[in-house]
Amino acid sequence: MLEMDIINRLLDLLMFRLGVEENYDGKVTPIVTTGSIVWGILLRSAIILFFSFIVMELIENRKYWWISLLFLWLFAAYPGWKQYQFFKKKIQDVEESTLCGKCVHFDSTSQLCKLYDEHVAEGYIPCEGVDWEPKSENEDVY
Ligand code: SF4
Repeated sequence: MLEMDIINRLLDLLMFRLGVEENYDGKVTPIVTTGSIVWGILLRSAIILFFSFIVMELIENRKYWWISLLFLWLFAAYPGWKQYQFFKKKIQDVEESTLCGKCVHFDSTSQLCKLYDEHVAEGYIPCEGVDWEPKSENEDVY
């Protein structure tokens, strides 16, 4: 069972799955974060480069190295960038629709409440509003 979880997690990372969040015991854990996107791009790039080297060794011809760059763009960089756009939009939605989005303790890069060290979602506010403190006007909005 643990192996399946690890494999599923790996596939999520490789495929930039759009599953947004998981719920355990009423707590929310976002699946897609800035870290998961970067990790996915690195993982994909490593796999593409690994197989590129193998293929080039097999065909004993390195003049097609640029195809690796094309694959890197098509299967790592571009999907990662698209996923990042999706992630940014989602954070914006959380910021606009929850109390946490206007709170000084909210960290938009990880969708986290810094005070409670828990992830925030549209249906889940860790402090239930008790510790809310307004953001100052000058603070950057994500
Ligand atoms: S302190 Fe409360 S309102 Fe502020 S980010 Fe954390 S959970 Fe949200």
